[in-house]
Amino acid sequence: MTPPPGFPGTTKLFVRGALRKCPRCGSGHIFRHYFTIKEDCPKCGLHFEREQGYWVGALAWVIAIVMALFIITFVVIMILTVPEVPVGLSLAILVPIMLFGP
Ligand SMILES: [Zn+2]
Repeated sequence: MTPPPGFPGTTKLFVRGALRKCPRCGSGHIFRHYFTIKEDCPKCGLHFEREQGYWVGALAWVIAIVMALFIITFVVIMILTVPEVPVGLSLAILVPIMLFGP
């Protein structure tokens, strides 16, 4: 991974990130609150913005985990209750997983 032109080396970038400083100029005071970053660096004007598609990976993982939890729960309910599956109880367990899991 090579930093873009005008940026310091990779090690310096990681150190500045860990210290919550601007990656390009090293200036502090780039956070409005502890978890809220300002839109631009007050010293060099670097615009802080997630690249397009940043959240796609996280979204895919959440969907995969919730689907796996749903399938495992469904199979366990089926194994434990066949041949008389309690539909109401199954729905009471499975629907909240799909509604509140993500
Ligand atoms: Zn800066």
